[in-house]
Order: sequence, then structure tokens, then C-alpha cells
Amino acid sequence: MPLRHFTIPIFIPMQACPFRCIYCDQVRISGHWDVPESDEVRNTIIKYLKTINTNESIVEVGFFGGTFTGLKLQEQESYLKAIQPFINEGKVKSIRLSTRPDFINQQVIDLLKKNNVGTIELGAQSMDDEVLRKTGRGHTAADVVAAAQLIRSNGMRLGLQMMIGLPGDSQRKAMMTAQRFADLGADDVRIYPTLVIKGTPLERLFHNGKYIPLTLTDAVEIAADLLIFFENHSINVIRVGLHPSDGLLSGESLVAGPFHVSFRELVRTKIWEQLFQPFITAKPASKITFHVPSGELNAAIGYRSVNRKMLATNFHKVVFKSSDKLKGREFYVDYH
Ligand code: SF4
Repeated sequence: MPLRHFTIPIFIPMQACPFRCIYCDQVRISGHWDVPESDEVRNTIIKYLKTINTNESIVEVGFFGGTFTGLKLQEQESYLKAIQPFINEGKVKSIRLSTRPDFINQQVIDLLKKNNVGTIELGAQSMDDEVLRKTGRGHTAADVVAAAQLIRSNGMRLGLQMMIGLPGDSQRKAMMTAQRFADLGADDVRIYPTLVIKGTPLERLFHNGKYIPLTLTDAVEIAADLLIFFENHSINVIRVGLHPSDGLLSGESLVAGPFHVSFRELVRTKIWEQLFQPFITAKPASKITFHVPSGELNAAIGYRSVNRKMLATNFHKVVFKSSDKLKGREFYVDYH
């Protein structure tokens, strides 16, 4: 049986951020308010480990939410040291962290490598300088290239995060960003749709009519194209859509934008919808059976069965069967 991958998340909200990206309120987005002490980090890991079968899993600890490498070196070291006993016991394999591209240099990398950090994720967000400028990111695409090359040349895994629907962004720029990520040798990517969060500068732009968020339909279509692109380049897409915090779920933090609790499922549904399009206009038959890969059965049927319902406009009976022999999004049909 393949080992399961598990990341124990530690949130460091808005720590060490010298900038204020116009869309960001890490506290509201992540739902985490407190900056943890090293002891709390240890306790969090112990709590998670109790729920994980470490013999059947690869466990990582991930620092998310802020700019980890913008912390003072002693603070970074103190967090990282708290993880080492778990690594020495074989319970945790490595550490991953997210940070800004302009906060990576050789001195920082040396500290991270010495402390078993295996993956660095850069909040790149876009590889278009106009988008980065309009978003108040405070770094350029060239900073992303320099940081990514340093990470790769030190033999570390590279994660890159991108956002869609930022001010000045477009479908073309999103695909260009994806291509640049592939050129930089990304191992992992995350795709986040831009949301308008209460209290952020983006909220003001939105109310002044200077920013129009993506519709959910457009965001899903762009994310579907990106997901296919990354899959075709063998890049691991570890997240599509924001993790829903309580504030987002209740609508308390969300002002506007393409938020959906099952965003990734909508995207996977959309990809199958596109594959099934020819069958909508195909010669009708009384029954059609789609054989699809086991892991894709739900996505093929569609979120809330939308693909099944779409196909049912042309066939009296639509059946889906899963097959372990099919890979990726291979499928075949039987007409009856
Ligand atoms: S660098 Fe990241 S955490 Fe800091 S303000 Fe920007 S988006 Fe938020």
C-alpha cells in the first residue's frame, strides 16, 4: 500500500511581513490569531501525531501563514529546533515552510538545510510585474526567479504559490505564470483564487469599483486549465482553492469573490465536463456507460452530479463505472 502523506500545519500569522499585500489578512483567511511559542509547536505536533499512523505515513511539519524566513535567525532556529527531536525519533520526515521570494539568501538556506527543511514554498502569486505592483507585493518576478534558482541549486524541493484574479491579472497571464513555474522546476504548486476579505485594501478598491473579482465560473475555468497544465508537466498540485476558515464559511470575513468550499471538486468536475462535451451532441442512445479511473469517479459524475445530469439530456440512462486499469483521465464508453 502506498504511504500516505501528511503535513502537520503550524500557522504563524502575518509574522515578519514587511509589506501589506492588498488582498491579505492572514488572520481572517487562516482563522489563526496567535503566534505560537516553541512549546506550543511541540504540543501541536504531539497532538497530531496521536492521530497519525506514522508507520504508514510520510509526515512533514509545515510552517504556513507568514514570512518564515523574515523572522530573526534565532527565532527561525528556535522553531526549527523544536521539530528536531521528532525527526530524530523518525516520527517526522522533514519540514516545509512558506515565505516570500525576497527573503531567501544563502545564509538562510544554510540554516534551513541544517535543520531538515526539505521544501520551501514561495508566495510568487504571479510572474507578471504589473500584477505584482498593483497588488503591493513589494517584489518582482525576477526575485522569484532568483529565489527559486537558489532553492533548486541547494538541492531543496521547490513549491510555488500562485493566485488568479489579482488586479491586472488575466487568463493569459495566469497561463504565462504557470509556464514560468514549470521552467523554474517547481515540484509543488498551490492555486488560490483572489477573494475580497473584510478590512483589506482590496475591499476599498472593490467598493470604489476599481476592482472586479472573478466570477466563480471564470475562476473554475482558469483553474481547470492550470490544473491540466501542471498535471501535463508532472507538477504536484497540492491545493486548489483556499482552506475554508470559520470566517470564510460563515461569510463574516468574505466581502466578494469566487469562494466555494469544494472549489477543487468544481475544477475537477469542469475538466470532465469538457471531456464529455462531444457526447452532448452525439447520436442519442438509450443507455451509455462511461468507464473512468477509480480515483476520478466522483469528479466524472460531477459535483452534485452535474455531469451526469448534463449527459442525461441526450441519453435515457447514463451509467458510470470505475476501473483500476484506467489512468489519469482515460475513459471509454459502451453504447447500449
Ligand atoms: S507576504 Fe504573505 S502574509 Fe505577508 S502580507 Fe503578503 S500575502 Fe500576507
